[in-house]
Amino acid sequence: MRVGVLGGGQLARMLALAGHPLGITCTVLDPATDACAGAVAELIVGAYDSVDGLDRLARSSDVVTFEFESVPAASAERLAGHVAVQPPPAALEVAQDRLHEKRLFAELGIETAPFRAIGSQAELDGGPLPAVLKTRRLGYDGKGQRVLRDAADAEGAFAALGELPLILEGLVEFDRELSIVAVRAAGGEVACYPLVENHHREGILRITHAPAPDAGAALQALAERYARLVLERLEYVGVLALELFQVGDRLLANEMAPRVHNSGHWTIEGAETSQFENHLRAVCGLPLGTPELRMPCTMVNLIGAAPATAELAAVTRAHVHLYGKAPRPGRKVGHVTVTRGGDWEAAAALADAV
Ligand code: AMP
Repeated sequence: MRVGVLGGGQLARMLALAGHPLGITCTVLDPATDACAGAVAELIVGAYDSVDGLDRLARSSDVVTFEFESVPAASAERLAGHVAVQPPPAALEVAQDRLHEKRLFAELGIETAPFRAIGSQAELDGGPLPAVLKTRRLGYDGKGQRVLRDAADAEGAFAALGELPLILEGLVEFDRELSIVAVRAAGGEVACYPLVENHHREGILRITHAPAPDAGAALQALAERYARLVLERLEYVGVLALELFQVGDRLLANEMAPRVHNSGHWTIEGAETSQFENHLRAVCGLPLGTPELRMPCTMVNLIGAAPATAELAAVTRAHVHLYGKAPRPGRKVGHVTVTRGGDWEAAAALADAV
């Protein structure tokens, strides 16, 4: 099978690596000549809305998938006119707009923070506060949002976020942040990975503990029920991640990612079948592999720049993944997964020291 991927970053790179043993070859489309998936997959250099690039990708692929959700709707449509596209473009559209996403959750009976659409400063002035104000589209890694604790914070906030369509969400006093990665096959089979616990810094995922310590069977079942509801409603094929806030024994859905997800990188070592392999299996119409836990692990993201490889490799039970990307502040340049019995704190200290 030939899989096309829109986007040639680390997610596409890890998809391509997972494809090799299965005889699945990936071709990626990315505007950057040095896109890091290019080292392990055929790279078509072109804009995400270039007709030529999209048509070349479609011709090189039996099915096309995505490594990010901000795919121009016209590009998804053009691809769908020539080749199978999975997950379905409708899922991307929902995930591109935080308001549509929250409305879908609400419709499905999935609990969220209270939310409402904001289209002007006047609409914002009514509160309620405290809240988080976010741009509806194109926000990621904490960008395009601000916490409003009182009326003074709300003043001028609409202009400060660029006078764009916004969503105001109640500020959740969560116990911790969790996520669940789930996958649906073309025939409807669903597999869910264990809940994981995520720690962010400056809006960027830094550490994932898998499985989430002391999550318990009831919380896992609730997360799986939520994931299944979304997957089934969207007639989804592929991997989907659901980001959740835990409040006691409740889970509030924050957002979904219609793709393989950073909080699922641990599955390469820690699960029987990685999220990358299962995404490929799903979009290629193959049976899913079991998502069962092989062993607990902790994933540490390398952000901005990577420590010396020799130092990382010296950490007990550390599995080092470097993406081949040039250092840049805030950029994810690699990750390290430390399996059970290893010293993840040492890996985290190295990541922090660069
Ligand atoms: P997001 O871009 O929606 O993933 O938000 C980035 C981070 O901001 C989340 O990981 C949370 O730590 C925090 N956050 C987002 N929305 C809320 C909320 N409604 N209440 C509390 N914290 C939030």
